[in-house]
Amino acid sequence: DEKLLDIKGLKTYFFTEEVTVRAVDGVDLQLGKGETLGIVGESGCGKSMMSLSIMGLVPSPPGKIVEGSINFKGKDLCKISGSEYRRIRGNEISMIFQEPMTSLNPVFTIGKQLMEVFQYHQKLPKKEAKEKAVKILRLVGISMPESRIHEYPNQLSGGMRQRVMIAMALACNPDLLIADEPTTALDVTIQAQILKLMSDLKAEFNTSIILITHNLGVVAEMAEKIMVMYAGKVMEYADTKTIFNNPKHPYTEGLLDSIPNIDKPVERLSAIPGTVPSPHHFPTGCRFHPRCKYAMPVCLEKEPELIHLEDNTQVRCWKYGEEGAHESRTTAS
Ligand code: SF4
Ligand code: MG
Repeated sequence: DEKLLDIKGLKTYFFTEEVTVRAVDGVDLQLGKGETLGIVGESGCGKSMMSLSIMGLVPSPPGKIVEGSINFKGKDLCKISGSEYRRIRGNEISMIFQEPMTSLNPVFTIGKQLMEVFQYHQKLPKKEAKEKAVKILRLVGISMPESRIHEYPNQLSGGMRQRVMIAMALACNPDLLIADEPTTALDVTIQAQILKLMSDLKAEFNTSIILITHNLGVVAEMAEKIMVMYAGKVMEYADTKTIFNNPKHPYTEGLLDSIPNIDKPVERLSAIPGTVPSPHHFPTGCRFHPRCKYAMPVCLEKEPELIHLEDNTQVRCWKYGEEGAHESRTTAS
């Protein structure tokens, strides 16, 4: 069956005089209608650049999609014109960012900004646009929307602004919603409310969602599948249940141990020692090896391929597959 989104071999690089930064370095991804995929990794792993690549918003120059295809509803987005991309962004794909102030315009009321979506993209007359704006604000849980539409973004709380941004993103009834760290700036209670709101809306509109986060806990409830990214590459790709019950990649293990938890003291949160490597200088072999407690000699020399396991997991690690098994036997003896 045809997927809504089918990405193959995507490489998004940044070129400076001295170096080539491989922000996204050969990623495949499929997403069906109504599915939610979580893309997880620390910041600098390439997950935001994935979303900008899909949105056609890679800053260029110095950035460029150098290889691969992004098939969306049967069309390769890497090959369409700028004006067609703008049309798709306003109607078929929309995005929610971490900080709503960057995408809400501070000088216009939220009502005017919402109405513009309906007037500009859906060509509705003003009166109907206003009715729709009120309706969608109510839908995202904003009380007294008739009076709220006259307010400016800075008159709203962070959680309210995030709701307005979700309303804006949904106003065009997109096939695909990309949410990049949509709750990171919010406190825990509001975070939970926003995630609940997104899953309600998903159920109602059958929107496909890509949810990007550094926190595996955030995607646990919402995503059917999870892709773990590190240093521009997919390290593990599996069903959410499998990721949580039987994580394969050492990096996934570390992310699971890092899920903030009220029972866990804050100083235990940094479960993964070390930092994300600079994309200017990726480590040799497995890009995770300097931080991996299982590293074997082969890990320093050869980069593992992404391999398919029997339980439908994909993993990039020498611990799995024949060569890795051989290596751990030799290391053990
Ligand atoms: Fe660790 Fe080696 Fe697996 Fe990389 S390939 S994650 S270094 S065990
Ligand atoms: Mg990011």
